[in-house]
Amino acid sequence: MEKIPSQDITPSVGHHTPGESTTQDMYAKRRHIYVREIKGLFQKVRRSANWALMLGFFLLPWLNWGDRPAVWFDLPGREFHIFAATFYPQEFVLLSWLLIICAFGLFFITVFAGRVWCGYTCPQSVWTFLFIWLEHRIEGSRNQRIKLDKQPMTADKIWRKGAKHTAWLLIALATGVTFVGYFTPIRTLVMELPTLEAHGWSYFWVGFFLVFTYLNAGWLREQVCIYMCPYARFQSVMFDRDTLIVSYDEARGEPRGRRKKSLSHTQAREAGFGDCIDCELCVQVCPTGIDIRDGLQYECITCAACIDACDSVMDKMGYPKGLIRYTTENALEGKKSHILRPRLLGYFVALIIMVAAFAWAVNDRIPLSFDAERERTQLYQMTREGQISNVYSITVRNLDNEPHTYQISVSGLPSLTLDHTSISVPAGESRIQVVTVLANPQDLNQPSHPITFALQAVQDEQIRQEREARFLGNARR
Ligand code: SF4
Ligand code: SF4
Repeated sequence: MEKIPSQDITPSVGHHTPGESTTQDMYAKRRHIYVREIKGLFQKVRRSANWALMLGFFLLPWLNWGDRPAVWFDLPGREFHIFAATFYPQEFVLLSWLLIICAFGLFFITVFAGRVWCGYTCPQSVWTFLFIWLEHRIEGSRNQRIKLDKQPMTADKIWRKGAKHTAWLLIALATGVTFVGYFTPIRTLVMELPTLEAHGWSYFWVGFFLVFTYLNAGWLREQVCIYMCPYARFQSVMFDRDTLIVSYDEARGEPRGRRKKSLSHTQAREAGFGDCIDCELCVQVCPTGIDIRDGLQYECITCAACIDACDSVMDKMGYPKGLIRYTTENALEGKKSHILRPRLLGYFVALIIMVAAFAWAVNDRIPLSFDAERERTQLYQMTREGQISNVYSITVRNLDNEPHTYQISVSGLPSLTLDHTSISVPAGESRIQVVTVLANPQDLNQPSHPITFALQAVQDEQIRQEREARFLGNARR
């Protein structure tokens, strides 16, 4: 597979000095990126997606389903409630399926449109954009923030910095409490946290998420995407020449240069200018601090802020939009782009098969699990009536939201009988029933016979499970 040439370019925001060295020193002092706020079509899409995701995250734990939280991962109770469904640890295979589906979804979207997941939906980006949005509201625009940072400590600066960090910490606290609210009912949690009645682990995880949200979104920001995120490191191998990427159209933009606004598009062309007016707006809006005009760089999270910035400049200049746009390497070189290509179709087919298999597994799921363990201390016993008896422990787990009574039956030999034929188990609980199985010695023609236990819910004929076991006895001569 041919790999797109990519470059490693030093983040230039904060200095924006043309001609500055472009080699990146791993140990270079970090330069703060003052991200300029920009409006535009893609930022509207990104903000809508971000608000929807955040609302979903913060509101879900507050929703109830009957008398319990709608989404509740009850670790001590070993029950995972997702709206009407309750899953148990023995159904973790479903969770594995879900994770595999997410991974293939990510591969598919990356082959199709690069790092759009990073730019539009990754929690690191969502929280960072939220923190930058707050920073902008409290400290002012990019230029005001640069000025403020250069100022000595004044009452205004102390107030603004204090308000910003307080707001960040409050959001980080809400994030921590909400996260823990997925594992402990949130209404109880918010009552118990201030009165120090909550569990020690709740304080630990709230504190953990508070600290890491504040650090990651407030201080580290693009450093997480560039240096810590493993996905950033390997996603480039999924790119090909037909992957949609954010690109600067060098053929159209160069030679770049500042010019009088009065110069029309044609006049600028005649004067030897390309369409880039070298305003650096695309660099100032970039949350990872790169200059997209240097070519594809792994730091680019495909957020399209530079597209919106450049389109607004093109609009003002009366030039056609799209100098920076979502395009493919092939399209940039004037070659044909192929949307449907074998690798993309392969991921798509794999994704569809896995989603279908998951839906089938969930739909076909029987909310009952049981084990039949033979008593190991004695092989078998002979009763006074001359029958052979084996003793079994039957552990029944009712995985349904309703209590059930189950009929126990056994088959495999003509004369098998049971001393207990039913067991009642409350919703979501387990019960153990010891049963004795009897058989006539005449039916036994070998020392060990396969038999089958069956459990059938009295209230629902769809709920039925079977388990194999062994019946031991004296073989008939
Ligand atoms: S925003 Fe557009 S015109 Fe301005 S520097 Fe970037 S590419 Fe050039
Ligand atoms: S280069 Fe453009 S798309 Fe890439 S991260 Fe920067 S602003 Fe976003």
